[in-house]
Amino acid sequence: MWRALARSSGRPCSPSLRAWKSTKKTLKSRATHPLFESPPHPELPPPSHEHFPLYQPGEPIRGRIVRIATAFAAGFSIYFFLEDPNVIRPLLPPPKVSPSQYVPTRLASTETSGPDTKLLKIVAPPHLRHLKSADDASIWSVYIKDDDIQVERAYTPLNGVDDNGDMLFWIKKYPKGEVGRWLHSKSAGERIEVRGPLTTWSWKEDLWDEVVMISGGTGVTPFVQLFNNVISKSPSSKTRFTLLHSSRILAELPPPVIIEPMVEFASQNPDKFRLHIFVDESDGSNAHVPNESINTGRISEASIKQCLHGSEEQPKSWWAKSSSTISSQEETKSRIMFLVCGPEPMIDAIAGPYGRNLSQGTVAGILGKMGYQSNEVYKL
Ligand SMILES: Cc1cc2nc3c(=O)[nH]c(=O)nc-3n(C[C@H](O)[C@H](O)[C@H](O)COP(=O)(O)OP(=O)(O)OC[C@H]3O[C@@H](n4cnc5c(N)ncnc54)[C@H](O)[C@@H]3O)c2cc1C
Repeated sequence: MWRALARSSGRPCSPSLRAWKSTKKTLKSRATHPLFESPPHPELPPPSHEHFPLYQPGEPIRGRIVRIATAFAAGFSIYFFLEDPNVIRPLLPPPKVSPSQYVPTRLASTETSGPDTKLLKIVAPPHLRHLKSADDASIWSVYIKDDDIQVERAYTPLNGVDDNGDMLFWIKKYPKGEVGRWLHSKSAGERIEVRGPLTTWSWKEDLWDEVVMISGGTGVTPFVQLFNNVISKSPSSKTRFTLLHSSRILAELPPPVIIEPMVEFASQNPDKFRLHIFVDESDGSNAHVPNESINTGRISEASIKQCLHGSEEQPKSWWAKSSSTISSQEETKSRIMFLVCGPEPMIDAIAGPYGRNLSQGTVAGILGKMGYQSNEVYKL
């Protein structure tokens, strides 16, 4: 389409070529007149500089020849370069598409990844493709529309947009859920409509000493995107990250494409990223997660305390604590952010329920009991 636009707007009806042709014709006819010594012939229209830019009255003939030759070369190159489809021209920027506008695309592939989950690859529409550069490293998602009943749900591409221009999703199907079931019924090649991007949470470099992500089930997907686009790409960042993820059983854990890069990065960068997996009950071994990373039972206050990066630091002695002023306590207090994403009962237990109209609500649950405030907790 861009090509077609470029062609229709710049074909060789180029003004310079036309000007050159008419200049040549006019000069030829004027050569029979004593053009350079006497005023123009009365039958000829007076040469207008505005309409006839190559004609400059009183200009020496060599100057004219140079101007004409330049115009000819420009017209010639425009003509031939625009005609040649193999010539690489800079792409026009894609038109702005509003995040509220649905754009058709297609499902590239689909793969079962657990009892109720699939990995779906969707071709990113052109206006989303720049998001692979991760210039804005915020966590983002897109809405996918169920065409049959016209309802939409948000889903998080695990890598943003990959180098092939695709978005990979890990999507759960609920027994009575609408869009998840509809997406699971789709085959590669089928048409899907998406809109976005929508910012889920804004990451800011060096704003926090520690970011603790707590997820359940497919609620891990925003954190996978943060891991792929920020954590694993900026090992020199001063922020330390911890992911506490829970699934009901081992078979429901995120698939290897999600978990393996995290396990590897955590083992190589223990001061930067920690991974703790929780399952409600153990049902045997899981090949892609080392046993020492797996805890049986739910995420509790004790497990959160244990997993924090500062947990191994020695507590201050009573006199050291009492001699500190309030302001110095504030200065040394670590800037922590808890991000929580998962099924609503889990969010309630960890951080308290959402407020009205999906507002954040007050911090309650385990984090509220631990004394964390609303500026330290965000429910995705
Ligand atoms: C920013 C964001 C990003 C997200 N990213 C992802 C992601 O990457 N992957 C992912 O899998 N999910 C993601 N989600 C969740 C997703 O948007 C949907 O909420 C989820 O897929 C369920 O939608 P659904 O239409 O399939 O189910 P819904 O129809 O919304 O149903 C949800 C639940 O309600 C139950 N239910 C439905 N109808 C009834 C009824 N009549 N009575 C009782 N119970 C009922 C269903 O059984 C199910 O348990 C994200 C959500 C947000 C907000």
